[in-house]
Amino acid sequence: MDEEGWFSVTPEEIAVRHAQRCVAGGAVVDCFAGMGGNSIQFAALGYHVIAIDIDPIKVEVASNNSKIYGVDNYIDFIVGDFLQLAPSLKGNVAFLSPPWGGPSYKTTENFTLDLLKPVDGCALFQVAQTITPNIMMFLPRNVDVCQVEQLSWLSSPPLNVEIEENCVRGFLKGVTAYFGKTAYWGVAQEISSVHICEV
Ligand code: ADP
Repeated sequence: MDEEGWFSVTPEEIAVRHAQRCVAGGAVVDCFAGMGGNSIQFAALGYHVIAIDIDPIKVEVASNNSKIYGVDNYIDFIVGDFLQLAPSLKGNVAFLSPPWGGPSYKTTENFTLDLLKPVDGCALFQVAQTITPNIMMFLPRNVDVCQVEQLSWLSSPPLNVEIEENCVRGFLKGVTAYFGKTAYWGVAQEISSVHICEV
């Protein structure tokens, strides 16, 4: 882990949950892989993972972490800009844990999607849709949930969507939005369900 990794890696219990919810199967693109916390859990369930990060040091660390967990055979690491690589990628699920802008996200009451990096959440979602409609997004606990629901309307017909709060030992750590086949529920008209989960 590097210094930044300690606060930016997805808590392991939540990464396990994300992997369990990855029912659309096959190949998973981890678009902002960081230290590899999510990629490792997808790989541990036997998914083939394409793990992307723009920072070669992060990729080196993630690759080493995947060896420690014994899942390196399941993960292809790519150093590159997800926004540029996306049109050439194929996968059954796209997992997005984009930069939240560091720990300062906590000081905002309502985290709007334009605060995500490297581009706003709408643009990011549209790029991910070039890979697959089965998208999972891990977002700050104070994210504007209405805005997240509205992302499903960027597709026609609208994608199924489910939003889940992720708690660890009673503390809300983040919110995960599941779209397309990764959403549990939903006929097209029933576009939102809120499921509160303790992991
Ligand atoms: P947080 O604000 O949640 O701590 P980071 O700034 O650590 O997020 O970013 C998460 C990961 O995304 C980092 O490992 C970073 O290198 C990576 N990253 C940032 N921009 C891109 C990009 N355009 N393509 C791929 N990976 C990126």
